[in-house]
Amino acid sequence: MIKAKVGIQRCSSYKQEELEKVLEEIATCTDFPDVKGKTVFLKPNILSDAKPDACITTNPEFVRAVIRLVKKKGAAKIVVGDSPGLPSPSFAGRVCGIGQVCEQEGALWEDFFKDNEIVTIPYTSQKLPIASIVKKADVVISLPKFKTHQLMYFTGGVKNLFGLIPGLHKSPCHLAFPSRDAFAKFITGIYKYAEPDYCMMDAIVGMEGPGPANGTPRAVGLVIGSTDCSAADWSEAQIMGYRPNAMPILKALKHEGLLAEQLSYPLLDAQELVIKDFKRIAIREKTQFIRTLIFPFFKRGIQKRRQMKEPAPVFLPEKCIHCRRCIDICPGKALEMVDGKIERDLLKCIRCYCCHEVCPADAIEVPAKKGGWND
Ligand code: SF4
Ligand code: SF4
Repeated sequence: MIKAKVGIQRCSSYKQEELEKVLEEIATCTDFPDVKGKTVFLKPNILSDAKPDACITTNPEFVRAVIRLVKKKGAAKIVVGDSPGLPSPSFAGRVCGIGQVCEQEGALWEDFFKDNEIVTIPYTSQKLPIASIVKKADVVISLPKFKTHQLMYFTGGVKNLFGLIPGLHKSPCHLAFPSRDAFAKFITGIYKYAEPDYCMMDAIVGMEGPGPANGTPRAVGLVIGSTDCSAADWSEAQIMGYRPNAMPILKALKHEGLLAEQLSYPLLDAQELVIKDFKRIAIREKTQFIRTLIFPFFKRGIQKRRQMKEPAPVFLPEKCIHCRRCIDICPGKALEMVDGKIERDLLKCIRCYCCHEVCPADAIEVPAKKGGWND
């Protein structure tokens, strides 16, 4: 059984003084990796070119504090990188401020398009480009943001590694792994390949409601650190008020023997930090009967019917700025612009919600399922 320590500490702001103290405290009690003389790769979550206040990306001041922490611990070289689904041509983490922080702190920015290699993702037969730095670095640290996620219910240290796939190469993965469970297994494969050494989660101001891009900032006031991303994610899900063992990624990790199941909390305990009114995304579980007996025989038909039962994205023409990002990213080719309005083909829509993630104008909504938030 995998054991892990999870360091959770309160942190009320992104001020360096407070952050540095909190990160050091968490690192000290959670076996932070030895980085002396090593190359360290930091992987923040930069979902899109959004400003820090939108809480879509890992906060740049949080990244700065982690850079300073590994510098203080003697890292020889610090590399930072991520690749949003639809990066602008000059994208280098600039809009969210992480690019500037790297320049100021002497860390190098890594362009995943320039240096990647084709990898067969574990547990799948899928071949995809993955940023080479994840294997070149001696130490890999995932820096996720505490956020809800329409497809995976929440996003944390494991899901953050999906960003190792450069830009639009990510989009067809939703078509190849169209159900929640299939996609979770695929993410688990990326996690297995990347083998991150540590997870330091920015849960100071997180996101609730329709995340990961269109939710509402929520002051959580925490930082979560662990040598095991699954342990940090389990704690995150618990704090959000989910049953962690109902989360697709945590279930897939358990299935592959990658879930830390014996957790200890040397600082604060996740069970005592549950946010009762946190706006979660309602979950729906299929029955054991369907999973074990019927599903294998009618897999495709059932999968399609299940997708059709999920809420389809709704487009709000009055807010649309006609950027076409949703059309470019849609893996199902379900969208087109007709007379200045987005039209959907619901039969082609696989309910991956990539369109919702990339829309810069909040012009796409995913209706809450029956029961609304906090099912
Ligand atoms: S319309 Fe949106 S939710 Fe449907 S397949 Fe396209 S990107 Fe995914
Ligand atoms: S991404 Fe949003 S703003 Fe851009 S075309 Fe689609 S709906 Fe309109």
